[in-house]
Amino acid sequence: MAANDRKFIVFIGPPGSGKGTQAQIIRERLGLPQVATGDLFRYNLKNNTELGLLAKQYMDAGELVPNEVTIRMVEERLSREDCAKGAILDGFPRNLKQAVALDKMLAPYGGVTVAPLFEVDDDVVVERISGRRICRQCGAVYHVKFNPPKRDSICDVCGGELYQRDDDRPETVKTRLFVYYKQTAPIIGYYFCRGILEDINAMQPMEDVTRALLDVLAKYGIR
Ligand code: ADP
Ligand code: AMP
Repeated sequence: MAANDRKFIVFIGPPGSGKGTQAQIIRERLGLPQVATGDLFRYNLKNNTELGLLAKQYMDAGELVPNEVTIRMVEERLSREDCAKGAILDGFPRNLKQAVALDKMLAPYGGVTVAPLFEVDDDVVVERISGRRICRQCGAVYHVKFNPPKRDSICDVCGGELYQRDDDRPETVKTRLFVYYKQTAPIIGYYFCRGILEDINAMQPMEDVTRALLDVLAKYGIR
C-alpha cells in the first residue's frame, strides 16, 4: 500500500458525544484500529504504570494530561503494525499543540484524512455521561437507558463487569466540558481551514449517527 493510502480519521466532539461508541461500531468494518487516548491512559492506570499514575491526577480532575507524555504515547501507538492502514483517533488531538504534533507524525502519510465533528447539546452530553457504563474487561460502552446491557451490569460481548468511570461523576463532567470548549474547540477551526471538517448530527439514535458517519467517510474513500 502506498504511504498516502493510509486513512486517519480524527473524531472531534465533547465528552459523551458518542465518539467511542461509533469507533467501536465501525472499526471492524473499516479495518482500522480505534486509538483512544482515554482508553490508553485507563489501560496504563489499570496496570499501575508510571504513565498511568501520572495521568490519574489529571483525569480525576477532568483536566488534560500534559502534551509531552500524551503525544509520545500516541506516536508509539501509531507506529504499531495494526496502524499500517491508518487509524480512528478518538480523543486526540485535544488542543492545537497536539494537532500540530499529529500533523508532523502523519506528514509521511499525507496527514489527517477527515475530521468528523460530533455535534450535541450540553444537556444531552450530561445525560449521556451520567448513564455511561464501561466493561472493565473489554471496554465496550453502554448506557443505562439508551444502550443497556441484556443482563444488569454484565457486558454482552465478554461477560465482564460494567462500571462507572470515576470522572463521569457530575462534579468532573462540568470541568471536562469547560476544558473541551476552551482547549479542544480551537481544533475545529484548524481542520475546517483544511477543508476536512465534517459535521455529524450526533443527537440522533446511534444507528442514524453510524449511517451519517459512514456516508461522510465514503466521500473520502473510506469504506
Ligand atoms: P465519547 O466517546 O464521545 O465520550 P461515548 O461513546 O462513550 O462518548 O458515549 C457516551 C454515552 O452515551 C455512552 O453511555 C453511550 O452508550 C451513549 N451514547 C452514545 N451515542 C449515543 C446516541 N446516539 N444516542 C444515545 N446515547 C448514546
Ligand atoms: P476520554 O476517555 O476521552 O473521555 O478521556 C478521559 C481523560 O483522559 C480526559 O479527561 C483527560 O484527562 C485524559 N485524556 C484523554 N485524551 C487526552 C488527550 N488527547 N490529551 C490530554 N489528556 C487526555
